[in-house]
Amino acid sequence: MSRPSRANRPPQATTDPRRRVPRTDAVLADPRLAAAVVTLGRAQVKASVNAAQERARRGEIAPEEVPDAAAAALPRRAASLRPVINATGVVLHTNLGRAPLSAAAVEAVVAAAGHTDVELDLATGRRARRGQGALDALRAAVPYAAGVHVVNNGAAALVLAATALAAGREIIVSRGELVEIGDGFRLPDLLESTGARLREVGTTNRTALADYAAAVGPDAGFILKVHPSNFVVSGFTSSVPVADLATLGVPVVADIGSGLLAPDPLLPDEPDATSSLKAGAALVTASGDKLLGGPQAGLLLGDADLVERLRRHPLARALRVDKLTLAAFEATLRGPEPPTWVALRADVQALKVRAERLRGALGDADTEVVASAAVVGGGGAPGLELPSWAVALPARLAAPLRTGEPPVLGRVEHGRLLLDLRCVPPEQDDALVDAVKRASACMS
Ligand SMILES: *Cc1c(COP(=O)(O)O)cnc(C)c1O
Repeated sequence: MSRPSRANRPPQATTDPRRRVPRTDAVLADPRLAAAVVTLGRAQVKASVNAAQERARRGEIAPEEVPDAAAAALPRRAASLRPVINATGVVLHTNLGRAPLSAAAVEAVVAAAGHTDVELDLATGRRARRGQGALDALRAAVPYAAGVHVVNNGAAALVLAATALAAGREIIVSRGELVEIGDGFRLPDLLESTGARLREVGTTNRTALADYAAAVGPDAGFILKVHPSNFVVSGFTSSVPVADLATLGVPVVADIGSGLLAPDPLLPDEPDATSSLKAGAALVTASGDKLLGGPQAGLLLGDADLVERLRRHPLARALRVDKLTLAAFEATLRGPEPPTWVALRADVQALKVRAERLRGALGDADTEVVASAAVVGGGGAPGLELPSWAVALPARLAAPLRTGEPPVLGRVEHGRLLLDLRCVPPEQDDALVDAVKRASACMS
């Protein structure tokens, strides 16, 4: 049981890589890592260095490889959100951030990112209405709205209306319009969370004006008309238009969902703010990042006194939008048509030509050009199919494309991966070809 004497032990101390792992400070002096400290922050770079040191201690890499390994493992950006190529054919994909901003909106966000005059009149030096420019742009886009206000999202707009106009009272709503908006969130729960009571009328498929009329009583806060924006009920159905509801002597709040401001012939079944107000809605609520094509926001448009009441309600402060949203929103309204608008109107023949060019650039026997059906998605124009074209690839490329750089999201259909071009801006075509080539190479 004798232990080897100190003198007999192998001379570990000098060969053990653990002893030769460079110190953190020394690694951080590497020019690449020093530069990264400026863009990513010291903590993220240090974490990368420590991970590389750990690999060296385990003998996975040589001690002199630590700076290279640390540099290679650095995140690209300080935040983890990554730009992705949306080849799903879903124009408004909730998991992909719904509407992409226009270049003008992005520029407005960058300009507003520092100190900015969001609540100050530079001419007088006095405090000004927050986001006046964005509100003016919205009023100009919907001249029919006497009052306008912007909150955090569509759900916030509804919550503010319910709290200010119906807390402790009733919201009259059709059973056919009690919708789930996604991720388990349901409008009826949202509305009841404000202290308002739901007075459900009619049935899932049919509700008549008489159903609403019978429910109107002294407790009625408002009648709510919700656009079923993510499903279609067909067959033996009927619902009551805003114009008829507006005859019942109770304010009508129309949740149009998509944020279409005026009628669009391309989307004939989609309600819009102007038409709803003309039909007699006292208030319209909508999202900013659906068909409007802007940042996440909630729009409130309508009767001036009503909107002012909402704006002055204490809850409004908790739903306030930030300066970045106001900047992007105004630029979306005043600037060039946003990418969502462009994708909805993409010329089908041009999509086919691009798909054929991509196929040619890929030059693979396993690649073909196929007709595809894109959709609006994300709470707009349910059931509407937009003809499109896609490049079809083997389905096994889906995972490497999704995890590549940039990540590419397609749609697997009938055992093929479709890269639908409707939502891919043409300037991303080359990046798409490169991504597919890299994904194919790593599979072979
Ligand atoms: C999308 C949608 C909402 C929720 O809007 P967010 O901006 O996602 O909060 C509410 N109502 C309808 C009808 C919708 O389509």
